[in-house]
Amino acid sequence: MTDLHEISLQESVIEDIDPLDTILGTDEIYQLGNKDADAIDALRLRFTRQAVDHHRQHNPAYDRYCESLGFGSHRLSSAADLATIPLLSTGLFKRGDQAIRTGSGQDEVILTTSSGTLGTVSVVPRDDVTLKRFFASVAIGKREVLGVETFDRQVFDLTPATRDAPNVWVSYVMAGVGVLYTTRSYVRRDVLAMKEIVADLAAVPENEGVNIVGPPPLLLDLAKYLEARGPLRLSPKSLIIAIGGWKRRENEIIDRTVFDERLAAAFGFPDTAPIRDSYNMVELNTVLFECAFKAKHSPPWITVLARDPRTLAAMPSGQPGLLSFLDPTPLSYPGFILSDDFGTVVQRKQCPCGITGDVVVFERRVNRIESRGCALKLQTIGA
Ligand SMILES: [Zn+2]
Repeated sequence: MTDLHEISLQESVIEDIDPLDTILGTDEIYQLGNKDADAIDALRLRFTRQAVDHHRQHNPAYDRYCESLGFGSHRLSSAADLATIPLLSTGLFKRGDQAIRTGSGQDEVILTTSSGTLGTVSVVPRDDVTLKRFFASVAIGKREVLGVETFDRQVFDLTPATRDAPNVWVSYVMAGVGVLYTTRSYVRRDVLAMKEIVADLAAVPENEGVNIVGPPPLLLDLAKYLEARGPLRLSPKSLIIAIGGWKRRENEIIDRTVFDERLAAAFGFPDTAPIRDSYNMVELNTVLFECAFKAKHSPPWITVLARDPRTLAAMPSGQPGLLSFLDPTPLSYPGFILSDDFGTVVQRKQCPCGITGDVVVFERRVNRIESRGCALKLQTIGA
């Protein structure tokens, strides 16, 4: 518990800063579980309970929902109790349910949206603090999980351009990255400027690492183009970061190992360590990044649980289920989300990268029939 003690000492010095923001400003926060695995549980319990109280107080629909389930934060006395927190299914964000809005309705929010290729778009209200915390989580993850310390590297952006999709969440994600690095976008109206990006990549000095960030199908398009024309020789200090899914190009998904090997060969890396995936959805106020050992590390302040699809009971470590997230960082909506993704959570894993903590393995997105069945009991809130 040494670290939490240290953090509480800092709090007494900087009284105006919310303790959660102090956590988000703490160096090596991902290392918290290394010395004391219980420290992460204590941190989650404290901040998640605080978030439940905040949303019940300022979100009458969520409060009624908790009431109807007989749930109260006084019941949260250990980390295992966090599984009892009432969740919002992603469908509620598509419907604009009143339970997704915490606050008076007068305070300024930005309505961030998913790209919505499945027909309906998720809308997530984000206030200033919520957005700032998101960007803080990206900065921490880049430094501590991706392992990028320097700020002088160029970022080659293959995500939709902000001007083409101003409120789409991925644009905000990249805007956050743009604050940290020199970022150049290579997508114009959904089309990747292939010759331009290849010429710019070829001009990067040999020992200079770069980041290439984009959706997996566009990264694969770039690799295929290079396969036909000859590989690049990028520094192995570079990182290729997949962000977002395959969306409309799901029929082109290839095996992850093959994907990594093709990209590593095309960019001229000696191994696949620089090829990293990430996980985010518009409803989640943080990004999970992969370390060099391809483990997606859960940040210490969020709780990821796999659930039994019928009962929503939390599955034990390593057992597959529907993934749920308890994220205490958003203030303008409850960050207690039941996702549409199946996967497993390996708890307290000692990863060779040096981080001890929960690792999330994403398996697949549930289909619409499955998702209708499993989230049925969550569809009545806010009514
Ligand atoms: Zn790791």
